[in-house]
Amino acid sequence: MRITSVEPFILHAPIARGAISDSTNTITHWGIAGVRIATDDGLEGYGFTGTHAHLASDRLIAACIGDCYAPLLLGEDAADGDRLWLKLARYPALQWVARAGIAHLALAAIDIALWDLRAKKAGLPLWKLLGGATSARLEAYNTDIGWLSFAKDKLVEGCVRTIEQDGFRRIKLKVGHDDPMVDVDRIEAVRKAVGPHVTIALDANGKWDLPTCKRFCARAEALDIFWLEEPMWYDDVGSHAELAASTAIPIALGEQLYSADAFASFMGAHAVHYAQPDVTRLAGITEYIRVADAAHARRLPVVAHVGDMGQVHVHLSFWHPATTILEYIPWIRDCFVEPIAIDDGHYVRPQAPGAGCTPTDEAMGAYAKPLRD
Ligand SMILES: [Mg+2]
Repeated sequence: MRITSVEPFILHAPIARGAISDSTNTITHWGIAGVRIATDDGLEGYGFTGTHAHLASDRLIAACIGDCYAPLLLGEDAADGDRLWLKLARYPALQWVARAGIAHLALAAIDIALWDLRAKKAGLPLWKLLGGATSARLEAYNTDIGWLSFAKDKLVEGCVRTIEQDGFRRIKLKVGHDDPMVDVDRIEAVRKAVGPHVTIALDANGKWDLPTCKRFCARAEALDIFWLEEPMWYDDVGSHAELAASTAIPIALGEQLYSADAFASFMGAHAVHYAQPDVTRLAGITEYIRVADAAHARRLPVVAHVGDMGQVHVHLSFWHPATTILEYIPWIRDCFVEPIAIDDGHYVRPQAPGAGCTPTDEAMGAYAKPLRD
């Protein structure tokens, strides 16, 4: 499996429903900053990271893949995954300028492509290559009905519809208004409409400060909240630890963390109850496994954040024993040869060899962006 070419690409896939917002972002497209790695035995591996489809920063990721990492990979054996991850992640010149951020997003795409290659070589879906499924069913929770930009009546209507028509029993609502009582009012309306048996998680996307969170949680505790996700600034371990100790609502976080060390800081401080690693930010599957295993050793559940919109995480979630549920946002599923699929609120287990990242020719034709002007 000698690597013969490493080619970055960028896709910008439109969000079918149009612009959506959370407390900190408004987007119209999901960016797929990816890489195709070919080997001398005729295989092609694909991996990608997820972005807000901002072309200038996507080009930085593509340049990191093509200009910085590709020369380190050409001629290497794609089977040597752990060694290659270390070679790239610890490359002195790159480590000097980027131990997180763009370098980790770029490394994520490459590491996923190398896992995709190894799974294809073995003729197995990734979850099988990793050791097989540890649960028969993987329940999905729907995030795509709970955006902050939805008016309250549309929010309630969408939640009811996805439960009654799509079979979901778990939903997540975005929160993070300047006045948190606006969020309490929206959650109360949803809880009243869906009844007591539907699981409701919340996501503030890092918006609030500690006093606002305490005020919000004091009111929200009565609404049976499954978790409050990223209530405060992503790196603030101390404030999350204090909040976790002061409220009955479990704290979830991790989608903005770049390393196993960052997760260790939160877990060591008892600042997180649900670990939410994401392969697209964590420099790939290799580091994700370290995080998931560390959380599992502490008996913490792992619920991946889907910066990949689930294509890779569905494999990791069927496999890893700390995971029983997975986020669902179906924005880019049609871009892939084997798209994620849901049946009665549960993920369908992938069957094709690989990591679920091979784009369709149609997507490459319709959504590709030039790497340079
Ligand atoms: Mg989130």
